[in-house]
Amino acid sequence: MATQIPSPPKVGMVSLGCPKALVDSERILTQLRSDGYDLSPDYAGADVVLVNTCGFLDSAKEESLEAIGEAMAENGRVIVTGCMGNEADVITARFPDVLAVTGAHQYVDVVTAVHAAAPAARGEFVDLVPDAGLKLTPRHYSYLKISEGCNHRCSFCIIPSLRGDLISRRPDAILREAEKLVAAGTKEILVISQDTSAYGVDIRHQPREWTAPSGERREVRAHMTDLAEALGQLRTPAGENVWTRLHYVYPYPHVDKVIPLMAEGKITPYLDIPFQHAAPNVLKRMKRPANEAKVLQRVKSWRDICPDLTIRSTFVVGFPGETEEDFQYLLDWIEEAQLDRVGAFRFEPVEGAAANDLDGALPEEVKEERYQRIMEATARISAAKLQAKVGRTLPVIIDEIGEPDEDGDIGATARSQADAPEIDGNVFLRNVSADLQMGDIIDAMVEEADEHDLFGVPV
Ligand code: SF4
Repeated sequence: MATQIPSPPKVGMVSLGCPKALVDSERILTQLRSDGYDLSPDYAGADVVLVNTCGFLDSAKEESLEAIGEAMAENGRVIVTGCMGNEADVITARFPDVLAVTGAHQYVDVVTAVHAAAPAARGEFVDLVPDAGLKLTPRHYSYLKISEGCNHRCSFCIIPSLRGDLISRRPDAILREAEKLVAAGTKEILVISQDTSAYGVDIRHQPREWTAPSGERREVRAHMTDLAEALGQLRTPAGENVWTRLHYVYPYPHVDKVIPLMAEGKITPYLDIPFQHAAPNVLKRMKRPANEAKVLQRVKSWRDICPDLTIRSTFVVGFPGETEEDFQYLLDWIEEAQLDRVGAFRFEPVEGAAANDLDGALPEEVKEERYQRIMEATARISAAKLQAKVGRTLPVIIDEIGEPDEDGDIGATARSQADAPEIDGNVFLRNVSADLQMGDIIDAMVEEADEHDLFGVPV
C-alpha cells in the first residue's frame, strides 16, 4: 500500500535588518525545514508568517511595525521575532492578534511558536535540508556569524541591551560551517559579528583542533587572526581561492596582523571598520572602543603593506555636542585616510540609548547640512579612487547575468574584491560569454568609472 506523505505546513518569512538578522532568519528556516515545514514565497500560501524585525533605530522599528502590519493584513497568522521582539508590549499594543513575539536569538522559542501555530506531521521521508542549511543569500556568497552580542557600551547603541554581552562560537564549529558552505557552492564568505576584532575574548581565545584542507590536523585559536588565516586556506571544489571578507572590525592593535594575509592574497584585501567619528571629543562622548590617536598612521602603514586594501566605514554626523570644528576634523581625517567606501548616518536618538541624555543635541538642519557635506566629500574620494582603476584588470565575482540585447550582447553585474554585496558598488560588465554562471570569478578590464561603480569587459 502506498504511504501518504502528509502535505507539510508552509511558513512565510519577512527578514528585515542587518546581515546578522539575515543569518538568524537562515537558522530559523533551516530548523523549520528539518522539522518538516515548507517555505511559502507569498503571504497567501503561508500557514504562518514569521517577521524577523530590526530594532536598531527608530526608523527601523517603524519599518518593522509596518512589515508586521502588512503581514497581519495579508495573512493574519503572524509570529514576530528579532531585535524588536524585545519590545513585545509595543508590538502587541499595535497588533493584539499576533500569535507570538520572541526576541533576537531565541531560536527555540520562535520554532516552538511555529509548531504551536501550524503543527507539522513529520513524515519519515521528510528531511530535505541541504547540508549547508538554508540560505537567503545567493548560493555563491554567505554570511558567517562568528559571535553574538558585544562587550562595549557605545552611547548611541542599544545592541548590548538587545543581544547581551559577547558570546563567541568555537573556531572549529565556525570552520566546519564555512567548509559546508564552500562545498555547497559558496565562493565568498562574509565574516560578521558585532565586533569581529573581539572574537574569542570571552572564551580566552581557547584553541580547538581543526583539519586543514591540506589534511594537517592542527589547533586554531578563537582569535580573529587565526580564524582569518584558516578561512584563507579554504578552496572551492574546483580549487579556487575562496574570498574571505572581514566586516565590523575595530582597529585593535592585532588587526595589523591580518594585513599581511591580505597582501599575500590569502584573504580579501577589504576591511569594514565602523569608525563612526574621528574627533577625540566626539569619540569620547560616543564611548567608542579601540580609538587611539595613531589610527590614521596605522591606516597608512596598512596601505604600505597592502596597497590594494579597501577600507569601508560608517560615520554618524550630528552627534550631541559635535561642534563645527569636530565635524571639520572628521572631514579632514577622512580626506587624509582616503577611505574607499563610506556610509553616513544623521544621529538619531534611539530609545534607551545613553546618548539621549547627553547635552548639546543639534537641530535637524545642522545634521542634514553635515550629512550632505560628508556625502559630497566621500563621493569625491570614491570617484577619484575608482577612476584610478580604469585600465586595470581585476578579478570579479558574477552576481547576475542579463538577457542578450538586440545585438546579442550579454551584460552582467559583478563585484570586485573592493565591493561587498548590498553595501558597496558593482562592476557592470558588457559582452560576457553566454556560458558565464552566477558565482563565476573571472578577470575583467575596467574601462570606465563613476562615483560608486566600475564598468568593464571580461578579458
Ligand atoms: S561596538 Fe558599540 S556600536 Fe558596535 S555593537 Fe557594540 S556597543 Fe554597539
